[in-house]
Amino acid sequence: MTQYPNLLAPLDLGFTTLKNRVLMGSMHTGLEETKDWNRVAEFYAARARGQVGLMVTGGMAPNAEGGVFPGAAGLFSDSDVANHKIVTDRVHAADGKIAMQILHAGRYAYSPKCVAPSAIKSPISPFPPAELDEDGIEKQISDIVTAATRAQQAGYDGVEVMGSEGYFINQFLVTHTNKRTDRWGGSYENRMRLPVEVVRRVREAVGTNFIVIYRLSMIDLVPNGSTWAEVVQLAKAVEAAGATILNTGIGWHEARIPTIATSVPRRAFTWVTKKLMGEVQIPIITSNRINMPEVAENVLSEGCADMVSMARPFLADADFVAKAAEGRAAEIAPCIACNQACLDHTFSGKLSSCLVNPRACHETELTLSPTTASKNIAVVGTGPAGLSAALASAERGHNVTLFDKADDIGGQLNMAKQVPGKEEFWGLVDYYRTMVSKAGITLQLGTVATVEMLAPFDEIIIATGVAPRDPAIPGQDGPNVLSYIDVLRGKAHVGEKVAIIGAGGIGFDVAEYLVTGESPTENLSEWLQEWGVGDPAETRGGLRPEGPQPDAATRQVTLLQRKSEKLGKRLGKTTGWIHRAGLQMKNVQMIGGVNYDKIDASGLHVSEGASHDNPRLIAADTIVLCAGQVPERSLADTLIAEGQSVHVIGGADVAAELDAKRAIDQGTRLAATL
Ligand code: NAP
Ligand code: SF4
Repeated sequence: MTQYPNLLAPLDLGFTTLKNRVLMGSMHTGLEETKDWNRVAEFYAARARGQVGLMVTGGMAPNAEGGVFPGAAGLFSDSDVANHKIVTDRVHAADGKIAMQILHAGRYAYSPKCVAPSAIKSPISPFPPAELDEDGIEKQISDIVTAATRAQQAGYDGVEVMGSEGYFINQFLVTHTNKRTDRWGGSYENRMRLPVEVVRRVREAVGTNFIVIYRLSMIDLVPNGSTWAEVVQLAKAVEAAGATILNTGIGWHEARIPTIATSVPRRAFTWVTKKLMGEVQIPIITSNRINMPEVAENVLSEGCADMVSMARPFLADADFVAKAAEGRAAEIAPCIACNQACLDHTFSGKLSSCLVNPRACHETELTLSPTTASKNIAVVGTGPAGLSAALASAERGHNVTLFDKADDIGGQLNMAKQVPGKEEFWGLVDYYRTMVSKAGITLQLGTVATVEMLAPFDEIIIATGVAPRDPAIPGQDGPNVLSYIDVLRGKAHVGEKVAIIGAGGIGFDVAEYLVTGESPTENLSEWLQEWGVGDPAETRGGLRPEGPQPDAATRQVTLLQRKSEKLGKRLGKTTGWIHRAGLQMKNVQMIGGVNYDKIDASGLHVSEGASHDNPRLIAADTIVLCAGQVPERSLADTLIAEGQSVHVIGGADVAAELDAKRAIDQGTRLAATL
């Protein structure tokens, strides 16, 4: 008897049956742009072998003007069809099903060729769009229909028409972006003419036995967004026009409310999809921050949807569904919703991967093949670098012994999990614990590894991490000065007024920790209130008129750095704004461009410039040092001095700009070579 009866139940679509209720949602990975179709095929085939019910590809442009950026992948010609056939054949051979997403970016296109219902520039693209005339609109519809027929020729099981997230089709629906006065604008009937016409003509072109998913924006989270009555009206019209399934879109890309970041509560928006249940007869899919089978099962058993979409969890673990079905959910590598290797890469023009699974999108290049010569490998340090090296080595068939002087595994992950909004790190450490045990790794915790202990091993991997950098500020030895480690381990008393020295990832995390009482990530109604999200049936677009209403800060915090640039500029590309906005809502003062002159009982004395202008006191009861980190290499250096050959990885190798993504990637890649 499975623990997930709803999730694993087949879904009969009449002309075809999906093997379960799991959709792998669309992700732009950048794989198609590599033009290495074997690599693209292997990415999807791995997820098909992992038993996902239906996959949706990354968005394919229907034409040049609709591409998210110049050169974005699409189905423009017969040779494109042949390339996509490589993917669909491989997926079908693995008994999988795959639909192609058709994505017209409209005014979100990063291109001077972009087009839209009205010539209104989006806040997230520098290019103002050209307003389409009647012929231009006809061309866009016809190109979308052609893309659908090419997808059918390429062997896809269906298409998803991207109608949400503020892209082209969505731009027609709301007055925020549609100021037209012809039959494509004005009344809601006119504004929804385009999506309905697209679905009607796609269905007409592909016939009855082809999946047509329409992704519908159910809560726009932008001013003048759709009302709930409009959402329902559109859903019914799209159903009548021939859609097979409705998928949920949450928030436009320009919305100033986080919708998928790790600080968003799990399943934060399934209540929105649930409102649509019963309004249409076709299956409805829900989405956003669903990352574990029990969460997905609950969503379905509570009647929030007929099917669940997860996207990033399939980067973290291709075998998500198979492991759930086999009762091995604890072995699923959890997506922690960090965006660091997926969306941050996409928005930097890099190929996506995954922080917890560096093999994602590198399936053909980073392989962990069984070794023919098993070795005894010692790994010192159980942070992300050491854990990944140990697990990947064990997976290849080596005998691994893992040392740490701490009493538990996880290293700095154990500090991250204390930060409000980073609760997903608990699950990541639990996952590693499960896998270390399953892999038969010998764990020597509470053990300071010595040269003598390590001498018998064939390979020695040093992953001893980092130590806090000493900022050498006069007075830093005073009783009112703490390191971030003291604070995040909860071992020290922190006063009411706090100055934080250093505004990198850790400075921001410590500020969040110090101003937050109960974590809103653990309390959905509080989180919705904090960010000003309301019921779209009561307030247009789901934006509360009163705006964000966060709880009061539990401390008065000043965050400082020496650089004069905007604080938090180097945080994650897609998540930095959330950290900044969160702290601003809590009235954290952010000050850059200062010298730290001294610390005394009254607080932190700062000034500006080489001549120490504008000297002033930042009054504080407690000063917390978050001034970056340096490699902890003492063991590595001793071993090298003794003539031992060692592999040094993670923060012990390079501390600057270290994060778990680089550490895990480096550990896995090293293990692949041993
Ligand atoms: P970091 O990001 O390198 O930041 C170090 C901070 O210390 C900077 O604000 C720097 O600013 C300051 N600093 C450097 N040298 C200093 C000195 N001698 N005296 C005083 N201040 C000094 O390092 P981190 O905050 O320790 O984070 C470590 C790594 O973990 C980073 O790569 C970070 O991105 C990552 N991390 C990421 C997240 C995340 O949310 N993605 C969260 C936590 C950590 P100035 O030089 O301008 O003063
Ligand atoms: Fe999830 Fe982070 Fe991996 Fe992206 S990089 S899939 S958000 S764990």
